Parts: sequence; C-alpha cells; structure tokens
Amino acid sequence: MQQPNNMEIPTVSIQEAAPLPGNGKFHVRLVEGFYQNLRRATSWPMLAMFFGFVWLKIDGQPAVMFDFEAHRIFLFGLELSWYDLPILAGIMISGASLLFFMAVGWGRVWCGFACPQSIWTWLFIRIEDFVEGRAAKRSKAEDKKLQGFTLLRRILKHILWVVLSLATAITFSGYFIPIEQLINDLLSFDASLFSLSWIIVMALLTYANAGLVREKVCLHMCPYSRFQGVMFDNKTRTVSYDKSRGEPRSHKRGALDNAGDCIDCHICVQVCPTGIDIRDGLQAACIDCGACIDACDNVMLKLGKETGLIEFYSEEQLNVSISTSMNTATEAKYNLCSVPFTSEATKSSANDLSEKNSTPSFMSFRLFSYLAIFIITLASVFYGLQNKTELIIEIAKERGSLYQVEGSEVCNNYQIELEAFSKNLTRLNVHITHETPSIPLRLIGPKEVNLTEQNNTYIYRVCAPKKYVSSRSEIEFSFTQQQFYASKKSTFLGPK
Ligand code: SF4
Ligand code: SF4
Repeated sequence: MQQPNNMEIPTVSIQEAAPLPGNGKFHVRLVEGFYQNLRRATSWPMLAMFFGFVWLKIDGQPAVMFDFEAHRIFLFGLELSWYDLPILAGIMISGASLLFFMAVGWGRVWCGFACPQSIWTWLFIRIEDFVEGRAAKRSKAEDKKLQGFTLLRRILKHILWVVLSLATAITFSGYFIPIEQLINDLLSFDASLFSLSWIIVMALLTYANAGLVREKVCLHMCPYSRFQGVMFDNKTRTVSYDKSRGEPRSHKRGALDNAGDCIDCHICVQVCPTGIDIRDGLQAACIDCGACIDACDNVMLKLGKETGLIEFYSEEQLNVSISTSMNTATEAKYNLCSVPFTSEATKSSANDLSEKNSTPSFMSFRLFSYLAIFIITLASVFYGLQNKTELIIEIAKERGSLYQVEGSEVCNNYQIELEAFSKNLTRLNVHITHETPSIPLRLIGPKEVNLTEQNNTYIYRVCAPKKYVSSRSEIEFSFTQQQFYASKKSTFLGPK
C-alpha cells in the first residue's frame, strides 16, 4: 500500500466482496457470544424505543411526531416549527459526525450493531431459525421439494414476516399521523388511500429488505460502505483475521508442521450475515457485526487455544503482530540450536505490540476532530432549542391599496397571521410603534388576541397624523404576554 504523506488521509484498501457461491443464496447460522450479547444490548432498547415512543405522550402531546399537516415537529415536550429546521439539521450533522467518529475508531460498528437494516434482518433471521430450524437444516431443505410440514413452516415464516413488516410500517407511519387515529381508521376500514398506500409501501420495503434482499442492501445499495475506505486509517479497529497467527490453515491436525491456529472449519463464514470470508481480508461487505469473532472464539475455546484469532484489530496492530511472529520464529530457530538469542527487534516488536494493545487506537487527531465537531454541533442544537421560535408572525400589507388618506391621517391596512409553538402562549397583547418613537400611531383592530381559537388571522388598520408621515417608514408590531415578547417590522406608506 502506498505510504501517505502528511497531507493525505492514510486510507486502507478494502476489497470488493468475492461473489457468493452457487446462486448466491445462503443461510446464516446463528451463534452466541460476547458481540451477539452486545448487539442485543443495543438493538433491543432501540426496538423498544421505536415501537414505544410512538405511543408516548408528554403533556397530552406526542413525544415524537412529524406533523406535516399542522406544520409541527414534536420532540420530547418541545414543539418545533419549520422555522426550527436548522435545529433538525444540527441534530443530523451531530449524528453524522458521531457516525464518522465511530467509523474512524471502530469501522462499521454502526452497521453491525445499530443500523435498522441489520436489526430487522437479525429479527427476520431469528424468526426463520425458530420456524424452519437451524441453517444447516434450511440449506438441506433448499434441494427438496416443498411439501407437507416443510411447506407449512415456510408459509408460517412468511406470515410472521408479513405481520412484523406491517407492525413496523404502522409504527413508522405513527410518527407522521397520530397513531391512535391511524389504528382506529384501520380497524374501522376508514383509512385514507394515502395512509393505506404509505403503510403498504413501507411494509413491502421492510419485508423485501430484511426478509429477501438482506445483505444485498449492505453490498450494493448502502452508500456508507462505498465511502468507508476514506474513513478508515491504519489505526481503525475493524473485524480482522490475524493471518500471522492463523496461517497456514489446516483442518487436519498434524498435517502441517507449521500449522497456524485456523482449522479451516468455515464456521466464521457460515455465521456471516453478508456471506463473506473475513480471512480474505477487509472487505466492503463486512458490517463489523462481530458474529465471526464469536464463532471463532467458540472454536478456539473448544480447542483450548487463546481466543482472538478474529477480533477488532487495527492494521497497525496486525502489522506489529506479523513482525513479532516473524521475529519469534527466528528466535525459536536459534533456541533450537541451543544458542540463547533474543533479538532487539523481537524485544522492540513485543513492546510495540503490548503498547499497541494497551494504547487505545482511537488516539488520533482525526478521531478527536470528529468528536469535537459532534460536541460543537450538539451544543449548537441545545442553544437552538433554548432559543427556538415560539411564535411565528406573518404580516402582509393589504393588496391593491398602498395607503388611504382620511382627513388629517394616513392609514395602512395589514393582515397578521400568528402561529404559536408553545402551549403557554394563549392570549397576547398587541402594540404598535413607529421607527420614530415620538410619532403617535393609532391601532385599529383587536388589542388582545386569543391564540387558542381556530382562526389566528387578524386584520389591522394603522393610522398616523399626515403631517408626520413620509412616503415610506418602518413600524413594528409587538406581541406580549407576561415575560414573553416577540415583534415583527413592516412598512408604513404615505403620500410623497
Ligand atoms: S472459525 Fe476460526 S478456525 Fe474456523 S475457519 Fe474461521 S478463522 Fe479458522
Ligand atoms: S465478516 Fe464477520 S464481522 Fe464482517 S459481516 Fe461477516 S460476520 Fe460480521
């Protein structure tokens, strides 16, 4: 690999996944272990949040909801307007920088442990495993004719998949349409065509992505896997096979004098949800789910060997491991000849390895830059939330009439539309001031407005003594309620 100079980001070469054998269809073998438990620890709370938050209410308002009809976003007690979209953009930027932070530090752990595509795929695989049996049994059934119990089990599996897809689609829709209303409409066969189409499309997407297409989404559709090569560097820890320890692999004990620890059992391949062999090196299809680590650790434990043949290693760590094993081999050769030998290189490499293992590989400038961006954007989001829009004021001058002269006064007409984004704003007092405070203005229209009413559009007429009025000046409408204050400027026109 080309050595980067100081101006370049040291990228890591990632291979395209090798084509899958046969017709590309494979059955994922389930495995237990540390990383599977870790995934449960992340995915179950996320699933609980997804299916639970849609029903949660805070002060009678949905906890999380994007209400396009009412132009409102409800976020854990906050009511945001479309004017607050920069806050949402800030949330997305902070999410993206957190994703990049994780990618630089630990590769595609987001994909393996938290991506909805992976979580739903594992759910579908669990259902498949429960109904149709283990992967080996399912593979054998592929060659047989579908009949009897095999056929019934296949039908039951698809029914359960459809039920889960529909539950997912209805829940997802509940973040845009009030869930109680949606369920009532569905049960009374009164749902709108739009709601029904939306639910069917979402259910089909869930069913196809998690049930049928699965790893092909990660392989061919996910843009994240395409640009991960520039996110990784030689300090990034990704799921890797320690070639220096595993090779040469041999499934027959004693067949090779210098056999490595890999017994070529292929279990790491059978458990892989994307069907790749991690022993071929870092591949774009690897989602860093850790299933192969758990599988190989189980094999190593059965063989009475140290675990970690496959682990989250950085390229830096693996290089040190290779150089250490080479020096250890040289040392062993000299020791066989009864010549006490400990090379300086071996010592330094061994020190390096222990140092690399003890020093977290995320100690890099790039990693901390992403962390800094994440913290800054998150702080900006909190600042934005503290200062979010509580009242939207739209002022429009009457069309077709610039001003009217009435005796000694000049008058302008305005239409004011108010939209409150805080439950506390109910009754507002309305005031008017001229840019020259000494010019007296007369406000004709409601001096107090009730925002709890359906229609919050008001007509006002503002008049000023003709002798003070210029052809164009500025006036300001202000709205107050106890500590609350908001205002908006408009123009006041008069004769030249
Ligand atoms: S599970 Fe471990 S021992 Fe078995 S083939 Fe994979 S790397 Fe080798
Ligand atoms: S190679 Fe290992 S970590 Fe990567 S996707 Fe397959 S099982 Fe998961």
